[in-house]
Amino acid sequence: MKLLTKSKYLAGLQCPKYLWVQYHDRDRIPEPGAMAKHLFKEGDKVGEMAKKLYPEGIDISFDSFKENLTKSKELLKEGKPLFEPGYIHENCFSRADVLVPVGDEWDIVEVKSGTKVKDVNVHDVSFQKYVYEGAGLKIRNCYLMHLNTEYVRDGDLDVEKLFKLRDITEKVEEFSKGLEDRIEVMLDVISADKDPRQDIGAHCKSPYACPLTECWDHLEDNHVFKLYMGGAKSQSLYESGVHAIKDIPDAFKLTDKQDIQRECEKTGKEFVSKGDLKHFLKDLNYPLYYLDFETFNTAVPMFDGLSPHQQVPFQYSLHVVKEEGSKPEHYEFLYRGSSDPRKEFLDSLKGVIGSSGDIVVYHAPFEKSILKKVGNYFGEEEWVSEVNSRIVDLLIPFRNFHYYNSKQQGSASIKKVLPALVGKDYSGLGIQEGAAANTEFMRVTYSESEDKEKVYADLLEYCELDTKAMVWIVDKLREKVV
Ligand code: SF4
Repeated sequence: MKLLTKSKYLAGLQCPKYLWVQYHDRDRIPEPGAMAKHLFKEGDKVGEMAKKLYPEGIDISFDSFKENLTKSKELLKEGKPLFEPGYIHENCFSRADVLVPVGDEWDIVEVKSGTKVKDVNVHDVSFQKYVYEGAGLKIRNCYLMHLNTEYVRDGDLDVEKLFKLRDITEKVEEFSKGLEDRIEVMLDVISADKDPRQDIGAHCKSPYACPLTECWDHLEDNHVFKLYMGGAKSQSLYESGVHAIKDIPDAFKLTDKQDIQRECEKTGKEFVSKGDLKHFLKDLNYPLYYLDFETFNTAVPMFDGLSPHQQVPFQYSLHVVKEEGSKPEHYEFLYRGSSDPRKEFLDSLKGVIGSSGDIVVYHAPFEKSILKKVGNYFGEEEWVSEVNSRIVDLLIPFRNFHYYNSKQQGSASIKKVLPALVGKDYSGLGIQEGAAANTEFMRVTYSESEDKEKVYADLLEYCELDTKAMVWIVDKLREKVV
């Protein structure tokens, strides 16, 4: 009999088909991407850090399955915290991050690299509690230990302050209702010969983006789930048999932006709101500084002045266009040391960003918040405030659908807008998206690697294209309004 583990229980809550595939046909599940792998590693680091809070704790996480089960039973007598003890009850198997003894009872402590309690965490602990109680342990309270966003590193890590311990005992009780029935259904799914029929829907993205993308293959590119902020509307259209945006009946009420999407699909033409675009372009003040950052973040702050998951800028690309139609000048920075990149990044940017003219970025809140945090830490509040006041967001005309082209597939991201509007893309680059940029930078910068120079060259090429893309986009928009 196959055992139901807590991660599989969570998979089963999301989707029975995903659960079945995990047991019977794992090859169908694509390899996790760069960001997912980074997050797994960060989760492991956080788990190791949390163990420091229980100096008496006994770690059995590295033992084999059999040994773990045997030791977990034996060690209960010791009356000490246990890291990852495993227990079985009724075909269910679970390992707690930490079991803490309290007299003859135990507290469950689940450690997460997130910064708040999520429903999926409570389901996770509910399953654990069910297994441990079934195995004969008396559980007193349940806790979630997550990262504390208010913590700012100053010198050695203060592990006490790095975490917040949240009592979720009552929530666990609530989420435990119906748990046995759910487990029974899941055990039936696991023992079936075929995967259960399961259609796509909102559950494919929540609580996690399901990696089994094959379920979406029957849809054409511009399907109803690509409707901008489609939500329940997309779902109801799909369930009523309308799968493509072009097939949405004219009488079906859509928002203005969704209506533009439908119109573009039906006519095959792009949408251009000349008045709005002219307004946006007219307001641009030369010289224009097209700016883009690359950043990384870690769950446990690496350097002083950082909080958990705070973004650390390590690279920028800047194209400066002195006046309309003039050739862009390119400037760039990539940190090449092995410590904190922020000061060098800031000093370099100060040298090239000028004191007048708009700074064009794509998704301004991100760039502004990075600059603000770095500036505050290094005593450059005034400079940052002046720089941030010059920032213009090139995302806005696209998010407002002042330009739309069906090749964007409902998205205003630069990765979609560039090929749709300009006909160029990121294919052929060694690094093609932000997640790969930050994980690759971290890999070659903070560990030994032979391909460091190759990765740095790829990073420079990638970031340069981000700002070149903005120059091209603005040029194209100008053509559209003539
Ligand atoms: S993509 Fe959706 S339907 Fe397919 S297995 Fe995942 S959650 Fe289930």
